[in-house]
Amino acid sequence: MRRRIIAGNWKMNKTIPEALELVRELRLGLKDCANVEVVVCPPFTTLSIVGQEIEGTAMSLGAQNVFWEEKGAYTGEISPHMLRDAHCRYVIIGHSERRHIFRETDEQVNRKIRAALGAELTPIVCVGERLEERQANKTFEVISGQLRGGFASLQSAEMQRIVIAYEPVWAIGTGQNATPAQAQEVHAFIRNWLVKAFDKDTGAAMRIQYGGSVTAENSAALIGQPDVDGALVGGASLKAESFLKIVQAAAC
Ligand code: PEP
Repeated sequence: MRRRIIAGNWKMNKTIPEALELVRELRLGLKDCANVEVVVCPPFTTLSIVGQEIEGTAMSLGAQNVFWEEKGAYTGEISPHMLRDAHCRYVIIGHSERRHIFRETDEQVNRKIRAALGAELTPIVCVGERLEERQANKTFEVISGQLRGGFASLQSAEMQRIVIAYEPVWAIGTGQNATPAQAQEVHAFIRNWLVKAFDKDTGAAMRIQYGGSVTAENSAALIGQPDVDGALVGGASLKAESFLKIVQAAAC
């Protein structure tokens, strides 16, 4: 049985006082939700303070990006080692905003994944098709290309330390979530791909989150699908009330 995982991607939101307010509300509300893994991914500037605030709770800390080098002349970048130092256990890699706004490639995603694994971080690796690709019936082609490139040269044991997030680009921040059936179809495709590219155990063990306009209202139906093991939540993770409801839906 795969343990469900709900992660909140705060993106470029929350000052230090705002982050503290949110995380304190989450801490109070999460007391009864120990059977689902909960991750918060604040911006770099609040990682440390949020990390201190969630110490000893059921929540884990994640970052939204990482660079592959350990240290040196890479202005503006953050290394896996630095994320560990800030008490991160997770890191989002290859989010569609990184791929499309910052032109991140599958090869860069692959380097980041390998560096994160090397530092004992759990990568949450995002894949997903754009609207025009779905409309052109290219969803599976796009997803398998991202999986092939992102996971190149990884072994089964490494794969089993990774979480995948299926995030259709057309559903992110648009209010138009994939239907549970659309999500399940792609999640089953990803799981099958993992079985073929690695082995049956890897396919069965790996957790695949859905992301894209997940709300308190639609989360139970999405997470209730057999191959959906949780959610990566953007907008609805910025308010304690909605994020807690999503966690609760996953815990039931
Ligand atoms: C995301 O950014 O990963 C995301 C899924 O955003 P939203 O929930 O706002 O669509």
